[in-house]
Amino acid sequence: MNKARNEIKEVMPQMDVIIEVLDARIPYSSENPMVTALRADKPVIKILNKADLADPVMTSAWMSYFEQENGVKAIAFGNDKAAEVHKINELCKKLVPHKVGPDKQIKAMIMGIPNVGKSTLINTLAGRIVAKTGNEPAVTKAQQRIKLEDGIMLYDTPGMLWPKVENENSGYRLAATGAIRDTAIEYEDVASYTAEYLLQSYPKLLQQRYKIDELPEQDWQFIELAGKKRGCIRQGNQIDTHKMSEILINELRDGVIGRITMETPAMRDAEELVVEQL
Ligand code: GDP
Repeated sequence: MNKARNEIKEVMPQMDVIIEVLDARIPYSSENPMVTALRADKPVIKILNKADLADPVMTSAWMSYFEQENGVKAIAFGNDKAAEVHKINELCKKLVPHKVGPDKQIKAMIMGIPNVGKSTLINTLAGRIVAKTGNEPAVTKAQQRIKLEDGIMLYDTPGMLWPKVENENSGYRLAATGAIRDTAIEYEDVASYTAEYLLQSYPKLLQQRYKIDELPEQDWQFIELAGKKRGCIRQGNQIDTHKMSEILINELRDGVIGRITMETPAMRDAEELVVEQL
């Protein structure tokens, strides 16, 4: 953690623009606190990645929210990003116009917590495989420099960037979306957090996916009902809530419940206030 921080601190002054890759389902919790801490007044392009899994209305809301800040531009990408990534070059040129032209170079640093899709994006930008991708977090290790078109040099962040740890809610949402996997947080706790949020924010999607006409009020009631529907039964005819919790989380991660965003700009504002007071 400190190693990454020191290395980033060292190269940051040479950078012209930061490309911050976020998970569009959790644009707040997938932020890396170091970006804000070390960015100074450099322009930032916020990439809301995995937008194919996120609620499109919320993705637009997040982009407008981020762009309220000076020097910040936001753009969303999903699985079909190949045709669209040139927009990043355009944004770089727009944000750093004095470095555009022959014999000039824009230095861009790409940053993101593990599993947001940073390597996939680097490979798409480069048009070839330069970064290892994988379903498990933390495959990008060595620092690299990749020459892109339009006089842009892309610097991959050295080391690992950890997500927010100070906010308990963020922990649940990072676990729910798979940004942190199989951690100390129990599946059942993550599922009950998720069920509570989905009952409130996406009831129709829950009704459709789990074929429940009348949704209950409490998250645990939902897990029991859905478990029964899915035949999650233990010995003694008990409902296997652990199994149903796994199903809910895996289906959320896979996007089969629907396009879901786990946090809103209003939640961010409220939770930041609490964190500041700690
Ligand atoms: P990194 O750890 O940030 O470098 O993440 P990777 O590039 O290795 O991607 C992590 C996982 O997310 C891989 O399974 C990718 O296929 C997947 N992924 C990357 N971008 C997207 C996207 O836009 N949409 C979806 N649905 N999956 C993506």
